[in-house]
Amino acid sequence: MTYAAAEGRYDSMTYRRTGRSGLDLPAISLGLWHNFGDDVPLDRQRAILRRAFDLGITHFDLANNYGPPYGSAETNFGRHLRDDFRPYRDELVLSTKAGWDMWPGPYGQGGGSRKYVLASLDQSLRRMGLDYVDVFYSHRPDPTTPLEETMGALDTAVRSGRALYAGISSYSPEDTARAAAILADLGTPLLIHQPSYSMLNRWIETEGLLDTLADVGAGCIAFSPLAQGMLTDKYLGGIPEGSRASQGKSLSPDLLTDEAITHVRALGELAAERGQSLAQMALAWALRDPRVTSVLIGASSVAQLEQNVGALERLDFSDEELARIDRHAVD
Ligand code: NDP
Repeated sequence: MTYAAAEGRYDSMTYRRTGRSGLDLPAISLGLWHNFGDDVPLDRQRAILRRAFDLGITHFDLANNYGPPYGSAETNFGRHLRDDFRPYRDELVLSTKAGWDMWPGPYGQGGGSRKYVLASLDQSLRRMGLDYVDVFYSHRPDPTTPLEETMGALDTAVRSGRALYAGISSYSPEDTARAAAILADLGTPLLIHQPSYSMLNRWIETEGLLDTLADVGAGCIAFSPLAQGMLTDKYLGGIPEGSRASQGKSLSPDLLTDEAITHVRALGELAAERGQSLAQMALAWALRDPRVTSVLIGASSVAQLEQNVGALERLDFSDEELARIDRHAVD
């Protein structure tokens, strides 16, 4: 059926300013790492994307290698865009990335060479049927390539109109400061950094990345804020069939130790006292620092997505609640 976006799609979502740029992002953004490859029926993908947009999620995040197979999430997203979202292109912030291995031979093995990064962006645009993406990221630091070369490629992407903004992902605070300085010299400000961040992974606080981002004026979009599903009630009674941990994908069952589950259970009790699900509390917690522009979630169903967006109904924390969380929010 032809899709018409919900009239009230901007009524309840919160939008936050990205660093010192002019761009607002929804407090909750949707990533297409899992659940949008050729292994998932297009109908389910379509339902998740439509519901997300209807709930005010204007930002969808991709990368060249999302699938499986690599590239298929972009191809599938291109199809949904053509079928459903074409009239809404100017209401969307779409991002993609290059950094991991992608095609055979020395120029497709990932990293940060100008050759790989720009060729990958052109491939991503073709797969999605787009003239430009809103944000183009260097997906990971590449210590074997001069940072000037990688940042120069991002600057070219922006200057040539293939991207509106430049971003980096998983760079250390030191490399972030250098990358931002190089980009600033080139006249293309660093818009945003995409690091991992959750109650079970607090490196952006402890290693000073958030301070660096505030200094350079870049935003922060936190990926895997639910620790790939660990910060939900999903694994409290074992590993359910069909879950990410059951599929030999990126979430190793080895992480689901008795000790980890004990902490997750304690966090779930606090969430219940707050009238939230654990997933909702985990997202609210990751958003408690205004330097975090958005949390970038995944969802394998519309029900998960709806529950997660419900996090925005209760974002405040008392000092006592934060102290309780600190006792269980351990790497
Ligand atoms: P999350 O931590 O949000 O994990 C999402 C998974 O958790 C879902 O697929 C689902 O797993 C489970 N889940 C979500 N909501 C619920 C719920 N309410 N109840 C129970 N289970 C739930 O994020 P992801 O790890 O998926 O990462 C999000 C995005 O971040 C990616 O799509 C990508 O865009 C980006 N990313 C970027 C990286 C980078 O290097 N820059 C690396 C990794 C991610 P299940 O399938 O088991 O149902």
